[in-house]
Amino acid sequence: MNDSSLWSLFRLEALAEHGLDAYLQEIAQQCALIFNASGSSIFLEGDSPGRFEVRGKSGHQSTVPTGAEITVGNGVAGQVAATGSPRLLGLLNDEPELADLRSLSANKIKSSMVVPITEPQGDVIGVLNLSRGFSEPAFQYEELEQATALDTHVGLAVANAHLMESLRRNVFEARVAGEKLQAVLDAVGSAVIVFDENRQTIEMNAAAEAYISGEGRSWDESSGVTPVLSCAVAKVIEAEDPGSVRAHDQESDRSWVVQGVPVGSGGCVVTVLEVTEFERAQREADRLARLAEIGQMSATIAHEVRNPLTGIRSAAQMIRQDPEMGKEFLGIIEEEAVRLDKLCEGFLSMARPINLQRSNGNLGESVSRSVTLLQSTYDEKGVTLIAELGSCPNMNLDFDTVEQVVHNLLLNALQACEPGGTVRASVAGGALVVEDDGVGMDDEVVANMFTPFFTTKSNGTGLGMSNVRRIVEAHGGDIDVSSEPKRGTIIRVIFDRSQV
Ligand code: ADP
Ligand code: MG
Repeated sequence: MNDSSLWSLFRLEALAEHGLDAYLQEIAQQCALIFNASGSSIFLEGDSPGRFEVRGKSGHQSTVPTGAEITVGNGVAGQVAATGSPRLLGLLNDEPELADLRSLSANKIKSSMVVPITEPQGDVIGVLNLSRGFSEPAFQYEELEQATALDTHVGLAVANAHLMESLRRNVFEARVAGEKLQAVLDAVGSAVIVFDENRQTIEMNAAAEAYISGEGRSWDESSGVTPVLSCAVAKVIEAEDPGSVRAHDQESDRSWVVQGVPVGSGGCVVTVLEVTEFERAQREADRLARLAEIGQMSATIAHEVRNPLTGIRSAAQMIRQDPEMGKEFLGIIEEEAVRLDKLCEGFLSMARPINLQRSNGNLGESVSRSVTLLQSTYDEKGVTLIAELGSCPNMNLDFDTVEQVVHNLLLNALQACEPGGTVRASVAGGALVVEDDGVGMDDEVVANMFTPFFTTKSNGTGLGMSNVRRIVEAHGGDIDVSSEPKRGTIIRVIFDRSQV
């Protein structure tokens, strides 16, 4: 037996380079050399319990077929695997119990040693099978002892091999996971930078690289980042609860949102998303919306102003033609001037912010005052107005504006009704409900009814409901509309959510 070749069992180069099977193959070869065996094979525990499969073989007489198996407990090798005791076998052909070994090696062997391979913990994890042919001397007992002494070495080498293999697998998996993560990070549109607990950059994706020009991979002005952005990133990294910061660089008119998420180890993951284009688009959209509003308003103003002006002009013409009629037509001029004045007042009130004068009062009383004021108008059209004023607690509201709301709602309800219709105004639990059985509204009208100047009436101003919304919003309230064409409308108003 050659001692230096024993050490070769612990050489892990084959394993590191070619994997466990190449390594086992080398062990089989070394064992064949050490014991002058013409056949050497290693069987190792496989995936299925109780079965050992051939993993390495060597020697010119080794005819063990690939995929050969040993079942623990069966045959000589199976007995060795089950008991952990080595066996020395003589003239195999003469020993009928060795049929399994003969079948594994195609009847060519004469003498053989079967040695268990034992793990450092003592478990049998495989079997080493060494054989010599007819022309060679049979194995001796001392050789069996040497082989048995070798068994833990081989077991250790296999355990090493297993460790090495799982290490290789882990390294490989870690690398694959790392590559996957990098691919995901690179696919993300925003820049992602990982800082360690010392605020040093340790990782970044492709988008972040774009911010870092030059050397040093540091996140500061010298790396090409604008001062505003590097300042925002510093703020996020330094913050105890990072959150997000918006940065705007006036010089280049660029904006970013910088967001930080702390990591357990004390570092921080920072994402930087440039929102310059988004903000520009937003500003452009706002500008277009304002232009559209101004356009709509100008059209309304032009329309509303032209009617009274036409009236005034024709009245003036009539007076010029026949000064006798001056008295009558001056009245018209005066009326139209008043209409223009009201119109201006309406426009101005739209633009004016509401300054609420709250006082302690009762919503029911406001409703009953509006009902009294409008009663004769309802009677003229033949529409019934029912007021149901249940008990209502006193509230702190601006009751002048509250009455404007009630008045507008009752007027719209009246205008929606045919003669014979009914409007019900009720107050309960701090909420006002106005219900009519008039023309109702489709979804489009409901969606637009609060827009200034939106009206479906030939003589409407379209300012009533937008004023209602302004007043209710100023109080901190809500308006709920449910309506069905030809069936009617229910409008529910809570003036101040905090008081109901
Ligand atoms: P105006 O009454 O001058 O038309 P409003 O702002 O008061 O303006 O109302 C806007 C539009 O909402 C009305 O033109 C009408 O189409 C619709 N509307 C409001 N209240 C009702 C209602 N109770 N029933 C049906 N339609 C309504
Ligand atoms: Mg109205």
